Amino acid sequence: MNESQTQAEVIVVGGGLVGASLACLLGEAGVAVTVLDARPGPLDGEAVGRGKLAQRVSAVTPVSQRLLERLGAWPAMAARRVTPYTGMQVWDAEGSGEITFDADQAGTDVLGHIVENDVMLAALEARLAELPSVSQVFEARLDALQTTAVGRRLILADGRHFLAPLVVAADGARSQLRELAGIDVSSRDTGHAALVTTVRTGRGHGGVARQVFLPSGPLAFLPLSVAGDDHYCSIVWSTSPDEAARLCALPREALGREMAAAFEHRLATVEPIDDAVHIPLTQRHAGHYVEPGLALVGDAAHSIHPLAGQGVNLGFMDAAVLAEELIEARRRGAEQGDVRILSRYARRRRGDNTAMLALMDGFRLLFGAEHPALRLVRNVGLSGVDRLGPVKRLLMRQAIGERGRLPASCR
Ligand SMILES: Cc1cc2nc3c(=O)[nH]c(=O)nc-3n(C[C@H](O)[C@H](O)[C@H](O)COP(=O)(O)OP(=O)(O)OC[C@H]3O[C@@H](n4cnc5c(N)ncnc54)[C@H](O)[C@@H]3O)c2cc1C
Repeated sequence: MNESQTQAEVIVVGGGLVGASLACLLGEAGVAVTVLDARPGPLDGEAVGRGKLAQRVSAVTPVSQRLLERLGAWPAMAARRVTPYTGMQVWDAEGSGEITFDADQAGTDVLGHIVENDVMLAALEARLAELPSVSQVFEARLDALQTTAVGRRLILADGRHFLAPLVVAADGARSQLRELAGIDVSSRDTGHAALVTTVRTGRGHGGVARQVFLPSGPLAFLPLSVAGDDHYCSIVWSTSPDEAARLCALPREALGREMAAAFEHRLATVEPIDDAVHIPLTQRHAGHYVEPGLALVGDAAHSIHPLAGQGVNLGFMDAAVLAEELIEARRRGAEQGDVRILSRYARRRRGDNTAMLALMDGFRLLFGAEHPALRLVRNVGLSGVDRLGPVKRLLMRQAIGERGRLPASCR
């Protein structure tokens, strides 16, 4: 055994939103967890969520909010900056189809919150630091993964060794751990890149998340409020990679004009208040989520087009279900890396994730289609669903995360 070998019950590789929430859930149950992350250190909790709005945000469903509340992360997030939205408006730029949702119809107070990713992560990291059975290791660069008689060993580039019965890959869409484990992944280029920035709008958003489907892809204005001022939005504009690069290179004023026009001036003027960046969008799905001593969660298992804001919400559900299965197995004295236990996690999550990936593909193809028949389907479909109470309620339950058997931590 290597002198510097650290042992844990579970090693989580990747302390992003999904890995940190998994480690929190396990740590609260007293499981010895080591979180390895390549970043230089934790976020500066004092700095995030105050002052400048961060570029990367997520729409967090009420079901995910319940998980974050259960983890004790939500109060710190709410004290910094979260923006509730009570309405959603989606329309087709090429026709007359439009659908609106509101929280009253869904029987909830809110449809979700727009939260800066760093605000969420800082709150989770603060909780992790309070849990005695959790240790966080930064500047961790993976070099090798080995299988031993007692579990998996991770060797870092600096020579440190970590051994545990179970290693979890939560290291994002281009997971190195998934690659080291030799797990195949199906990738589909969506033909889109997402332009991301923050804007100030002439008209207040009024707590409504809006998205227009342009022929080139969806453009979302996600509501953000700063000290009660509702004239801010986070932009996710999915379009061809060339077009995204062209838009990002425009002076801010010109980009604002193009955005306002594409958005049919629904929020009047648009003024970017940050640089725009573009992120390639590839949908990926791992061939399998588990094998003896190893499990994949979050973007390491599946990465999805952001058009319905579901990516991290699916990842939170992975974390909650995996933790539930592991904690129950530990109570019975079973081994954490036992593939029969891990397979229960995979069975509970793969269907939901697969259905959501397929739905995003369907949306993208339907709204990208030029064919007049498909355009008619879009218009009739959107407006038809808008008029059909039960179907609309079903869609809303899906969007707010109320799907299938939820883990206890999210009920
Ligand atoms: C433009 C855009 C908009 C989006 N909007 C939404 C939205 O509104 N709602 C929503 O639910 N989702 C949204 N998503 C998806 C969401 O951002 C992801 O699903 C989510 O961040 C995945 O979290 P994760 O923890 O699995 O991975 P990541 O956030 O990628 O975290 C991975 C972590 O692993 C670490 N790491 C990476 N490699 C290694 C390594 N080799 N060794 C050690 N550590 C490593 C990283 O430092 C990082 O901390 C959006 C995505 C995009 C691109």
